[in-house]
Amino acid sequence: MTLLPQTEERADFGARIELALGASNQLFNARNSPRYVADVLQAVNLVATKVSRVDRPFTGIAPAQLAPAVEAVDLEAPLADTAAALEELEALYLRDAVYFHDSKYAAHLNCPVVIPALVGEAVLSAVNSSLDTWDQSAGATLMERRLIDWTAGRLGLGPSADGVFTSGGTQSNLQALLIARNHAVSKLRQNPAFASERLPGLLDRLRIFASEASHFSIEKSASLLGLGYDGVIQVGCDARQRMDPAALREALVASRARGEFPLAIVATAGTTDFGSIDPLAALSTLAEEFGAWLHVDAAYGGGLITSLRYKHLLDGVGAADSVTVDYHKTFFQPVSSSAILLRDGAMMGHVAYYADYLNPQSTAGTVSLNQVDKSIQTTRRFDALKLWLTLRIMGPDGIGALLDESIDLARQAGELLAHDPDFELAAPAQLSTLVFRYLPQAPDSQGNLGGTDGLDGETADALNLHIRQAVFASGKAVIAGTKVQGRHYLKFTLLNAETTLEDLQEILALVRSIGAGYLAGERA
Ligand SMILES: *Cc1c(COP(=O)(O)O)cnc(C)c1O
Repeated sequence: MTLLPQTEERADFGARIELALGASNQLFNARNSPRYVADVLQAVNLVATKVSRVDRPFTGIAPAQLAPAVEAVDLEAPLADTAAALEELEALYLRDAVYFHDSKYAAHLNCPVVIPALVGEAVLSAVNSSLDTWDQSAGATLMERRLIDWTAGRLGLGPSADGVFTSGGTQSNLQALLIARNHAVSKLRQNPAFASERLPGLLDRLRIFASEASHFSIEKSASLLGLGYDGVIQVGCDARQRMDPAALREALVASRARGEFPLAIVATAGTTDFGSIDPLAALSTLAEEFGAWLHVDAAYGGGLITSLRYKHLLDGVGAADSVTVDYHKTFFQPVSSSAILLRDGAMMGHVAYYADYLNPQSTAGTVSLNQVDKSIQTTRRFDALKLWLTLRIMGPDGIGALLDESIDLARQAGELLAHDPDFELAAPAQLSTLVFRYLPQAPDSQGNLGGTDGLDGETADALNLHIRQAVFASGKAVIAGTKVQGRHYLKFTLLNAETTLEDLQEILALVRSIGAGYLAGERA
């Protein structure tokens, strides 16, 4: 065996050194910091130029048109430089991306993002702190904790509150229900009848209560937590899609009679479809009476803590045991940014795990600055910096003012739709969504009657499904869809303070013309 490379290997060796030298020019460090500035500026300029020229939310491109170009890229053969890679990116991604900042994007809970948060994004990814331990983050941990305290304070969760940033509402809900589950199991184990029962047997007795309009991540969490999807009991809603407390009481009583125990009541503060807010005070009274954890899923409605005019919609949230807040929805932050907040911070102990290499047991019980003790993630981004800079540059009122604009707009547009005979509004606006369908009553331009009398349920479904898809394909607007009592509806989700009533009227005109065209075609 020889330690020196053989002749042909030696040539290879030279090439490898050259490659490593070239690659190390791409490492972000003191030597390469000018390159970092130049390259990031190229990208920032490209995006800024793109956004300044975008005049519609989408190009309407179909997957089959875009896929071959992405497939054709040879990932084994790098391009000459950053400029070339960005040029390629323009064609593969930026040209046909869906742009949430456009005033005719009104589909999902995606927000236009604020510039202070983008500044934060640039800083946090370059420094690349990881929030699992103090020794990987230092000041970042302290800042994240201040923001948790700030959020808990605005929610009114009291002096013992704690929490942690997460990747999104789905993860926040999972963590809240994990803690609630472990809390319920430890309570059950205090009962001699269950003291020695194995976990699966106990889980089989636990139920989660959530409204029919709650987010699907509640059921997904139940499944991940070993309860099964059917561990969630769906509770009926009133006409405005808010959980009916009388129906909840009935469900709790029936469940108790079956020998089950309530793991948690999940109240939604801002349902994804209707923006409806469950009656928080009534639900917290029931939670107390039945000994259930109260989780408030405020992934959507959480931004109301900054609102100048609609803060009262969250009245009662302070009584929750846990709250989910998505900063990447109603706080205008880039994905990802979310948090789980607990009224009793000590409950965070239900997710603590002490690893010798990271946060050894010897640190337990001391005031730990290792956020991993409270998180179900390990390596974790400093997403909190985006919210930090947003608050330091715009202040909470700035966020609230943007949200209030969208709520006002939804209310105005709701009035418009409620009085338009061609549309049926499923429920009045509550936050910033509107669910409606096109059900024309009046003769169209060809004199055809399309009224509800003439439109059976299936035709109405096909019509509204077609409208949603055709609006998307036009690229002129993007709207969403959902089902109400089994029927297909259209949905506006409004989070853009620059969207005007005129924008929405133009989208409705497009809906009308696509819909009338479809009905005329069906008749022909
Ligand atoms: C969006 C949403 C979620 C999920 O949040 P993600 O950030 O998408 O994971 C959960 N609950 C409600 C009510 C939501 O609107």
